[in-house]
Amino acid sequence: AAVIVAIDGPAGTGKSSTSKAVAAKLGLGYLDTGAQYRAITWWMVANGIDVEDAVAVAGAAGKPAIVSGTDPANPTITVDGTDVSGPIRTQEVTSRVSAVSAVPEVRTVITELQRTIAAEAPRGIVVEGRDIGTTVLPDADLKIFLTASPEVRAARRSGELKGKEAADLASTQAALAKRDALDSGRKTSPLAKADDAVEVDTSELTLDQVIECVVTLVEE
Ligand code: C5P
Repeated sequence: AAVIVAIDGPAGTGKSSTSKAVAAKLGLGYLDTGAQYRAITWWMVANGIDVEDAVAVAGAAGKPAIVSGTDPANPTITVDGTDVSGPIRTQEVTSRVSAVSAVPEVRTVITELQRTIAAEAPRGIVVEGRDIGTTVLPDADLKIFLTASPEVRAARRSGELKGKEAADLASTQAALAKRDALDSGRKTSPLAKADDAVEVDTSELTLDQVIECVVTLVEE
């Protein structure tokens, strides 16, 4: 039977690296749900929609066609046929994604997409996000909730940004804290640990140790 693994947690906990590696090791598909929220945000900005106007965002939520490729060795994302894997990582999108993803109509559209992709994965899939274990796939075979201290998360995130949009540690930590607050502070809060999720604090672990830990949990 297909195996469904949900990996949730805030930014900078190693979610993407862990999820991709676990999927590759186990021969499963991989879905980055943050990339989907970034893609719809990119489309809103590209089409001149004010992301603070929740009515406008809600009205447009169903318009873009977002397609995710689920090969963990080469995850892809397109909007209306355009590859947006680069543009969705820009500061312009990152600073707006929390507002767009808080709109219920956006969550409905993206959640539906995610469930379809998971149901169609032949051997199963690792789905990473914020609300996968609680909302998108509550019947997942394994739910992981990754955490890390704020200092470790900021250090990892500024390491990722190095060369691209190099930011100092303090401002990275502040930006992450702001996004966390936006992601967990509203009624439509996506970020939550499911009651039956296994919490893994990655602060003191190497990436390989986290991967090993999750693979072991899947195989149990
Ligand atoms: O994982 P990543 O940092 O790329 O996610 C970008 C944003 O997408 C998050 O800050 C959050 O606002 C939104 N998101 C969400 N639900 C998910 C995944 C991401 O609301 N399942």
